[in-house]
Amino acid sequence: MDFSLNEEQTVMVKMIRDFVKKELQSTYAHWDRTDDFPVEHWRKMGNLGLIGMNVASEEGGQGTDSVTTGLAAEEIAKGDSNMAIASFVVGELITGIIEKYGSGQAKKDWLGPIIAGKKVPALCVTEPHAGTDASAMHSRAIRKGDRYILSGEKSGITLMMSSDMGIVFAKTNPEAGARGISAFVVPTDLPGITRQSYEDIGGKCLKRGSMFMDEVEVPDEYLLGKEGEGFKIVMRGFDFSRVILALICIGAAEITLEETIKYTKERHAFNMPLAKFEGVSFPIAEHCSIIEAVRCLCYRSLWLRDQGLPHTAEAAMCKWMAPRYAVNAIRDCLLLHGHYGYTQEFPIEQRLRDIMGIEIADGTAQVSKIVITREIFGREFLPY
Ligand SMILES: Cc1cc2nc3c(=O)[nH]c(=O)nc-3n(C[C@H](O)[C@H](O)[C@H](O)COP(=O)(O)OP(=O)(O)OC[C@H]3O[C@@H](n4cnc5c(N)ncnc54)[C@H](O)[C@@H]3O)c2cc1C
Repeated sequence: MDFSLNEEQTVMVKMIRDFVKKELQSTYAHWDRTDDFPVEHWRKMGNLGLIGMNVASEEGGQGTDSVTTGLAAEEIAKGDSNMAIASFVVGELITGIIEKYGSGQAKKDWLGPIIAGKKVPALCVTEPHAGTDASAMHSRAIRKGDRYILSGEKSGITLMMSSDMGIVFAKTNPEAGARGISAFVVPTDLPGITRQSYEDIGGKCLKRGSMFMDEVEVPDEYLLGKEGEGFKIVMRGFDFSRVILALICIGAAEITLEETIKYTKERHAFNMPLAKFEGVSFPIAEHCSIIEAVRCLCYRSLWLRDQGLPHTAEAAMCKWMAPRYAVNAIRDCLLLHGHYGYTQEFPIEQRLRDIMGIEIADGTAQVSKIVITREIFGREFLPY
């Protein structure tokens, strides 16, 4: 077992740390307050090769393995967890799907521009009445000659208000349940599309929103894979994105713990540094232990993925544990800063709001535990 970074990973981590220090950390709060998506960061991340890293180099990506992408996501999250989500969750999922299932035209129109940070994507699965039970979606896609006509509503979509395109999941055969769902590239400026934003408590710059589709026409070249393959396509991506989301939580918790260790060494009460009180240092010691353990599980899951080995249960374990324990750690760190932690002088309150959303995104803790149960007990022991 080798836990050290190779040369390429060492160089990449250093490059990202510089970027985080110079550009992301100082603007993290700004983009929260202004509620805008920082397109300039997105472009810069494209220039640095941090979007679509997994995509093969012949298709314009970096051909990076999963472990290396995880390292990048963890480091970026130390500066701005929202940009890490935009790039390593939404960006990776979308470019991975287009690379694997897109027609030549879909690739030509979208793959390069997204990887370069020139276009912003969104992944549109959830609907107002179909979240956890995603296969109960109502959106329809009906074939008409060489086009598909899409109608329905997608909700809770990250980056919706800033996106140039979405991969939209809709039913081509409603009688077939999950096997009747297909995936389409849908440019968001097409006639028949309207969008509406949410007032989320966190992840504000990611401008989550709903998309309403009223007889939106897309060319059949924008069908991804075959009709009926949509659910399989998105579920396969979740085994990756769930671990990446977990590492984003770990990165945010790590930087918060680091800051809190420094703060409690410097701040005094009763004539000594706060860090001397075990009531202060023990919670930090506990959080550091748990975060390190979950971090190891995340990298093991990504390593399994890189070996082509099953990792569905491990990914689901990471997905429920990382946001839960990161939120616990960030909350305690906030309290250890006293009143200052409760103000917007420090980034901790924003991290708490931002990371809490990851407890829901891409499947809640309950869904993760259903997946783990299915994997360890067997499908026949699910209640439905
Ligand atoms: C920050 C954030 C980002 C998101 N980004 C996207 C995106 O980019 N694209 C997208 O398509 N969607 C996105 N979503 C939507 C997200 O996928 C859904 O919110 C999530 O799947 C839960 O669905 P729901 O909100 O409809 O809750 P529901 O499905 O209504 O669930 C409500 C509660 O019931 C619990 N529950 C449901 N079924 C069971 C069960 N069988 N057993 C036990 N408990 C159960 C859930 O765990 C949850 O606590 C995002 C959400 C958030 C918060």
